Amino acid sequence: MAKAGRTAVVLPVADDEEPWTDEEVEEVRSELLADIARMERAIQVAQAGLDSLFSDGAETAGRDPADIGSSNFERDQELSLVQNARDMLDQAKLAYGLFESGQYGWCENCGNPIGKDRLLVFPRATMCLACKRREERR
Ligand SMILES: [Zn+2]
Repeated sequence: MAKAGRTAVVLPVADDEEPWTDEEVEEVRSELLADIARMERAIQVAQAGLDSLFSDGAETAGRDPADIGSSNFERDQELSLVQNARDMLDQAKLAYGLFESGQYGWCENCGNPIGKDRLLVFPRATMCLACKRREERR
C-alpha cells in the first residue's frame, strides 16, 4: 500500500460537517503534541514536589499531629495531580499514535467518525460524543 510522496492525512467527519482543511488537521496535530509536552512537564514538576514531600515525611517524629495531617493531605493532592496528568498524557499519546497511523478521528467504540467539531475542541478524544456519554453514565 505504499503511496508515492507524502500524502495529506484524510480525517473523517460526521455526516453534516465540512471536510477537514489542512490547517485544521495541523491544528489538532500540534495541539496533541503541545498537550503531550505540557503533561510531561506537569508530571515532572508534581513528581519533584512529591519527592520533597516524601523526604519531609521522614522527619515526622515528634511533630505536631496536625502538621503531619496537613502534609498527608498535601501529598494526596499531589498524588492525584500526578495521576490526572498521567491519564491525560496517556490519552494524548494514544490519540497522537492513532493520528500517526492514520486511524485518528474514528470512534474506538462504535467505529463512526468522532466528528470534526468535537476533535477541534477536544483533540484527545478517541470516542464519539454518544459513546462517551454512554460510558460516563455507567
Ligand atoms: Zn462511538
